[in-house]
Amino acid sequence: MALMTGEEYIESIRKMNMEVYLFGKRVDCPVDDPILRPSLNSVRMTYDLAQMPEYQDLMTVISPYTGQRVNRFTHIHQSAEDLMNKVKMQRLLGQKTAACFQRCVGMDAFNAVFSTTYETDQAHGTHYHENFKKFMTYVQDKDLTVDGAMTDPKGDRSKAPHAQEDPDLYLHVVEQRPDGIVVRGAKAHQTGILNSHEVIVMPTISLGPEDKEYAVSFAVPVDTKGIFMIIGRQSCDTRKREHTEIDVGNSEFGGVEALVVFDDVFVPNDRIFLNGESEFAGMMVERFAGYHRQSYGGCKVGVGDVLIGAAAVAAEYNGVDKASAVKDKIIEMTHLNETLYCCGIACSAEGYPTESGNYIIDLLLANVCKQNVTRYPYEIARLAEDIAGGLMVTAPSEADLRDEKLGPVIEKYLKGRADVSTENRLRILRLIENLTLGTAAVGYRTESLHGAGSPQAQRIMIARQSNLNHKKALAKAIAHIKED
Ligand code: SF4
Ligand code: FE
Repeated sequence: MALMTGEEYIESIRKMNMEVYLFGKRVDCPVDDPILRPSLNSVRMTYDLAQMPEYQDLMTVISPYTGQRVNRFTHIHQSAEDLMNKVKMQRLLGQKTAACFQRCVGMDAFNAVFSTTYETDQAHGTHYHENFKKFMTYVQDKDLTVDGAMTDPKGDRSKAPHAQEDPDLYLHVVEQRPDGIVVRGAKAHQTGILNSHEVIVMPTISLGPEDKEYAVSFAVPVDTKGIFMIIGRQSCDTRKREHTEIDVGNSEFGGVEALVVFDDVFVPNDRIFLNGESEFAGMMVERFAGYHRQSYGGCKVGVGDVLIGAAAVAAEYNGVDKASAVKDKIIEMTHLNETLYCCGIACSAEGYPTESGNYIIDLLLANVCKQNVTRYPYEIARLAEDIAGGLMVTAPSEADLRDEKLGPVIEKYLKGRADVSTENRLRILRLIENLTLGTAAVGYRTESLHGAGSPQAQRIMIARQSNLNHKKALAKAIAHIKED
């Protein structure tokens, strides 16, 4: 089958029978819900851009497994160049949506599960890699969106999965059957699951032999019996129900997260990618996290581009764009943003093949990339707010602007430069508000901190990968130190 158009994608999601809850009620048609629809539009952009000749090389690739042109979001990386193109594609999508476009988690899960299943089979004589390849070619053929589900609720963080008072706080196998397994548990903060056709589930941490039943990976359609999701609230989300364009800041695009419950879900044998081989859980986690930490060197940079542009426009509208202090702030924002991009490109350029043949990023550099992402977007956001001024949080609503009596007053008193309409000034300030404090702040701020693992998780990996003994040996050689 050919690549799907954006419209075909929307209709394919509409046909699914997902169990979705928002504000205590089941959502009949998530595709048409005003709060949820912008997040679907963001994923749609991954389909729309793939149809455009100017983006074909970045957005699509010939699959070595099917021989067909597939969307890069379903691709298994074959080279360091593929890894770099992935980051470039993510930057482009961040620029086009100014939001989380969600489809990357599946791509990152694809590549982590591809190599881990290969190595698990080598060690155990299992057939997980074959299962995964069958699933992968199905996804490529149908051009599906896949969610990658890793984060378990985790309960008491000081206790291993099997030692939790409630055994379901990590997703686990509750029944082994001749034709498959039954799983129970939940995955938290699931980016884009609502807009996905399939979900790949992976373990959330390295596991010991006593946690065998938690060492499980598989893929199922998102509307499989027993799966339901509770949508996460976002700051300012109900503005999307007010039929306003200005007040939401970004009326077309958004992101979405959900708590996803797996209430005794059956997984057939050919969809299982790990089932009890606990020593391979850590490999899958580390590789997925590494790929997703690389991803942030692309997507957050693209959103950062929009925020920098918005700050520059706000400065122009206020008539301060020529002030050296403002120019310097824009330079600083650009410097920080491009530093993140450098990290994304660098960990990709240093990529290397795994035993299975697909390419993986340099894990040290990918973790450094994400560690910087836990900091720089906050500083970029601070500088954008600095340039925007207090009006970005004190401006009246669009309803007031449209009011017969209040509109002209707002027009008069909230004007910046005489040749710029007050409406345009408010539009750009609301976009900055959306990116720094509103719905998009989930993706641009807090997700920069905690997404793909919280800062401490990267510091552990940096310590593990930094080869300190080599550095000590270098110093001793230069200092001519000879130890007995
Ligand atoms: Fe993709 Fe970024 Fe969203 Fe992760 S946070 S799914 S990398 S856009
Ligand atoms: Fe993320």
